[in-house]
Amino acid sequence: MFANIEEFSYNIIELAYLEDSYMKNGDNKSIALKAYAKINLALDVIGVLENGYHEVSMIMQSVDMYDKVNLYVNNSGKITVKTNLSFLPVGPDNLVYKAAALLFDEFDIKAGLAIDLYKYIPVAAGMAGGSTDAAAVLKGVNELFSLGLSMEELMERGARIGADIPYCIMGGTALAEGIGEKLTRISPCPDCYFVVGKPGISVSTKYVYDNLVLDENTKHPDVKGMIKAIEEKNIDLICSGLSNVLEDVTVKAHPVIHEIKHRMMEAGAGGALMSGSGPTVFGIFTERDKAEKCAEILREEGLTKNTYVTTPVNCAQ
Ligand code: ATP
Repeated sequence: MFANIEEFSYNIIELAYLEDSYMKNGDNKSIALKAYAKINLALDVIGVLENGYHEVSMIMQSVDMYDKVNLYVNNSGKITVKTNLSFLPVGPDNLVYKAAALLFDEFDIKAGLAIDLYKYIPVAAGMAGGSTDAAAVLKGVNELFSLGLSMEELMERGARIGADIPYCIMGGTALAEGIGEKLTRISPCPDCYFVVGKPGISVSTKYVYDNLVLDENTKHPDVKGMIKAIEEKNIDLICSGLSNVLEDVTVKAHPVIHEIKHRMMEAGAGGALMSGSGPTVFGIFTERDKAEKCAEILREEGLTKNTYVTTPVNCAQ
C-alpha cells in the first residue's frame, strides 16, 4: 500500500500548490489533506528568552514533499490515529491527535474522528514533519465541522501545540521570528530544485539547542540579506547566503552532514545547508538533470538513507 518513498517523492514533484491541497467529499464528512515539509534557507538563534525558549530568526520554505492526512468523521466520540510508521505514537502524543483534541475540546465536538496518517516526510529530520501534520489537522477539523476559524485564529491555536505549527498553516516562503510563531510572508522563492538528503541517523532538537553556544565566534546568518536575495530572485545570492547557526553543533556530533554537503557541492549544487536542527541536508540546483544526478550519487555512495529531488512550494500571497 505504501509506495517506495523515493519513487513517491519523484512522482509528487509536479503536483499542485498549497491552496489546491485539499479536497472535500460531497457529504463533507471526510477530507484528504497534503501536509508539506519545510526547509530553512537561513536559521539564526538570537538568544534565550526568560522562559528558556530560544529566540530565532529563520527563513522557512515549503517544499513539495508531503505527508497525507485523511480525516473521517464518525460517531464513536473518540479520536483515533492510524499511521504507516509503527514507531510513531498513535495516542495523545501524536501531534495530529493533539491538534484534533484541541479543537474538539474548545468547540465541544461530540462526534468521533479517525485520522489516517501516511508519513513520507522523514521523522526527526528538521523538516517539521509532525508540525505540518498537526497544521493539516487543524485546517481539516476547521473545515469538516464548519468552525469558521480564520487562518490567524488557527495559527494562534497551533502555536499552543508547537512553535513551527503556525508557519505550517501558512506555508510558502516566510520569515519566522520570536520562538518561530511570529510570521511575515516574504516573496516566493524562485524556481529551483532541491536535493534533500537525510542520513540514517536521528537528531534530537533538544540536544542541538542544549549544546548551542552563542558567543562572539558565532557566525550568524544574514537573514535580511537572504530576504533581499529571495525578493530579487537571485539564486546565486540565495546559495551564497545559506546559513544555519545550529549546523556546527549537529555536524560535530554527526560529521556525515558535512560529507553530504561537500558531495552535493561537488555534484554541482550552488549551495548546500542543513535544515532545522538536522540531520537533513539540502542542496540547491538550477537544473533538474544535475539535481537528479546528485541524488543518484548520494544514494549509490550510501551517504543518505532517504534522498529526494523536490521543488519549492509557494502559496497565495
Ligand atoms: P522540526 O523540524 O519541527 O524540529 P522534526 O522533523 O525534527 O521537526 P518530527 O518529524 O516532527 O521532527 O518528529 C519529532 C518527534 O515527534 C518524533 O520523534 C515523534 O515521536 C514525535 N511525533 C509526534 N507526532 C508526530 C507526527 N505526526 N509525525 C512525526 N513525528 C511525530
